[in-house]
Amino acid sequence: MRRLALLLPFLAFVTFAQAALPFPQAASDLKPDPAAHFGTLPNGLRYVIRPNHEPRNRASMRLLIKAGALNENENQRGVAHFLEHLSFNGSEHYAPGTLIEFFQRMGMNFGDDTNASTGFDRTIYMLELPDTKPATLAEGFRVFSDYAGGLLLLADEIDKERGIILSEKRTRDSVGYRTIVAQLGFLLDGSRFPQRWPIGEVEVITKAGRNEFLDFYNTWYRPDLMSVVVVGDVDVAAVEKLITETFSPLKLRAEARPAPDLGKLTLADQSGVHVFHHPEAEAPETSVSIGTIQRYAAEPDTAAVRLKYLPRTLANYMINRRLSILAKKEGAPFTSGSTSVSEEFDFFRESAMTLTCRADQWADALAVADQELRRALEHGFQPAELKEVVANFRNSLEQAVKTAPTRRSDSLAAELTSSLVDDEVFTTPADDQALYGPALERVTPAECLAALRAAWSAPHRLVMVTGNARIEGDASAAIRAAFEKSAATKVAPPEVLADAKWGYTDFGPAGKVAQREHIDDLDVTLVTFANGVRLNLKKTDFEANRIRLNVRIGNGQLTEPADKPGLAGYANQTFVEGGLGKHSVDELRRILAGRTVGASFGVAGDAFVSSGNTNQQDLLLQLQLMAARIVDPGFRPEAARQARKAIEELYLSLEHTPRGPFTLEVSRILASGDTRFGLPPREEMLKRNLNEVKAWVTPELAHGYTEIAIVGDLDVEATIAAVAQTFGALPPREPRAALEDRRKVKYPDEPFARSYSVPTEIPKGVVAIYWPTTDGLEIHRTRRLSLLGLVLSDRLRVKVREELGDAYSPGAGNNPSDIYPGYGYMTANVTIDPPRAQLIADTVIAVGADLFTKGTTDDELARAKLPVLTQLRESARTNQYWLGSVLARAQERPQQLDWCRTRYSDIESITKSDIDALAKTYLAPEHASRVIVVPHRQPDEPAPAATATAPKPDAAKPAAQPGAPKPE
Ligand SMILES: [Zn+2]
Repeated sequence: MRRLALLLPFLAFVTFAQAALPFPQAASDLKPDPAAHFGTLPNGLRYVIRPNHEPRNRASMRLLIKAGALNENENQRGVAHFLEHLSFNGSEHYAPGTLIEFFQRMGMNFGDDTNASTGFDRTIYMLELPDTKPATLAEGFRVFSDYAGGLLLLADEIDKERGIILSEKRTRDSVGYRTIVAQLGFLLDGSRFPQRWPIGEVEVITKAGRNEFLDFYNTWYRPDLMSVVVVGDVDVAAVEKLITETFSPLKLRAEARPAPDLGKLTLADQSGVHVFHHPEAEAPETSVSIGTIQRYAAEPDTAAVRLKYLPRTLANYMINRRLSILAKKEGAPFTSGSTSVSEEFDFFRESAMTLTCRADQWADALAVADQELRRALEHGFQPAELKEVVANFRNSLEQAVKTAPTRRSDSLAAELTSSLVDDEVFTTPADDQALYGPALERVTPAECLAALRAAWSAPHRLVMVTGNARIEGDASAAIRAAFEKSAATKVAPPEVLADAKWGYTDFGPAGKVAQREHIDDLDVTLVTFANGVRLNLKKTDFEANRIRLNVRIGNGQLTEPADKPGLAGYANQTFVEGGLGKHSVDELRRILAGRTVGASFGVAGDAFVSSGNTNQQDLLLQLQLMAARIVDPGFRPEAARQARKAIEELYLSLEHTPRGPFTLEVSRILASGDTRFGLPPREEMLKRNLNEVKAWVTPELAHGYTEIAIVGDLDVEATIAAVAQTFGALPPREPRAALEDRRKVKYPDEPFARSYSVPTEIPKGVVAIYWPTTDGLEIHRTRRLSLLGLVLSDRLRVKVREELGDAYSPGAGNNPSDIYPGYGYMTANVTIDPPRAQLIADTVIAVGADLFTKGTTDDELARAKLPVLTQLRESARTNQYWLGSVLARAQERPQQLDWCRTRYSDIESITKSDIDALAKTYLAPEHASRVIVVPHRQPDEPAPAATATAPKPDAAKPAAQPGAPKPE
């Protein structure tokens, strides 16, 4: 069998002019995952099939074309990405304008289950099949086969899509994005990359003719550059047969063109210091960076090569830890920092040390970057530092092995596809552990130092300052002078780290169980301890070796003091960063290295919430950590220092982006001025402090109503015992407070219209429309309103995106409150070309009005409902669903157990008349409020050609519709 498998690609080589690309394992001593079945068709198309059983009865499919923007000619810049959009607009088996609706009728969600992306060197199409019936699989392959060779690329459809691509370009434009374009233009000067941003050039997007599309499609969508990946609940032989039948007829449609020449790297051979400065006045921060760039030629992915780079990875982790500790010190002139070294596109190696800071701190931050880099390069690392990162690395390998049996098909498909893009062997977590484990035992600080020095061996330093720093006079000279001044400073070895021991093992005598009940049909256990702590548990087999926890305490934002607006946000920023009484946050990281524990903290609408993930081995430590956060929060001043930096950056960003007015004003207007909604002005926010957080939060944590939910691969009795020793031992808890006076929030009595202009040069605006609805406390109604939101969202896709070509990603959804009785609203959001703002606002309201007067159609309802039912079937086997939607508050609100029982049949039973009645109640045009945000300076023309482009692989279709919660 093995011989035959080796022979097939060889025969293919002889028979056809094109050689099939070998799989990465062909040139490696590494073994690929034995569960994956690799094959190559005679025409060179490769495929990988990997059976996998989570989620049940679903399959993830990918079609990879190893060609992207780099393969474009000069007059095709943007065509690779544009073509990806056109794959949805007409092909052999799917008439223009029918594919998205076809997917919806199959129970797939546009954006989540069907999507695509284009990068410099790849185009990837994805399908998440709703089931694995033979007809569904065959349909999936028919769609892929049309993408691969059956696109119509009609001139009308190309013209219709131009506006959507321009809108996508506008949606992606930002100062951060412009900075990346400028910076890569500097680093990769001389190469093809800066000339081939995937989103493309306005000139090409608006004018490219059908021939340019045909040329690219016929030349590069060729079988030997394609791979099909299928992961899921499938039979290998059946899928292999389908792949062979579907793709064997695929032929070359044009003469094969050689791979593009990537050009040179001007900077790679240079020595000395090279300075780059790119100011963006509207950026919320400044970024300083020291780096190098070198040529890199592909290395095969072998055991030796993987092990060669291990010490370098560990060295970077250790430097990143130092930067995170330094950033918190009093007077630190930077907010955060990180370092990395990577090889990209088999073409270049980039090393970089990057810090972000306030505008006026750029020179001091640059000095820190230089000196920390040299401190590592000259003095190396301490054994204690290495021990910590090795413990974390080893634990991540071990957890990967233990959680492997329940990996999900979509992430496996994504990993398999990237391994084909990057020519890496798709190894198993167990083989990775066997490879790296012994190396981690042996690795020394000296090896890490040697690897770091090798990574920084280029004879030059590239010194870059970007963002909002205003540098007077000759900026380059000033940056060079600041760097050289720092470079002349001697650096001392790093401080020696002190050892520390976990200080929270004893919370007093274990609590007694006062009540215990088993809900048989849901297999859920509900426990009440003598001190009033509630515990809801469910053992599942959805995720091997993983336990998820959620703790709700006290009243959360319900009790936020009205005279301290923004305090909840401030508490979110500072609570975890403040550490514990006995340990700072950095000391905790050292103590907890190598363990699978962690506890977040956040202020929710009606509780303080801590959540985390662990496993059986670390469950007690995890609960100790969560309980320690409750009984002994640290409120250390370093948290206030870091929060101040974050607040300053946030407000600078809000000043110059369309989301600013929504966060600062609209949220509060929608709640008739209630200060718990939105953020206060900057000056008010900067008054918030740790004493206020302490005064508000401490009494609630000390006695507040407490409900814990734990779901996953757990032992019920051991879990109850661990909770008894921690939360069960805390002082008595109060019953849930009603707080009726704090639960009053009112939507404005009269519809309103607001316009804002934001000082920004980015030529995009936002239109938002609001219709008052109601709360989410009556589940029957809430589910129907959610579905109405999905229908509205789909109508906006058809009208605003497909018909008008005016927006890349319009979205709508219902936002019902489950805290404030009667409160909720439907909202629609569209990113727009500013001069079109009023027209789009009118259009959105008219789309709502049409639903109000004429109602929906059975087909629309089905296309909204079927993808939801697919999601429900899948979520029933996820710990996240059980934790968040069922168990988090199962004792406070026992009706949530019933919601779980009825959700599928209830949503299935929703009728057109249910939806039409709600549209009649809520979507009247005279109830609609409108908000328009546009830039101050509206350019007369679209964005200048040289600026707005897409740095990352980008999706043809939006990944998610904003503001559209799924029905529970
Ligand atoms: Zn796109």
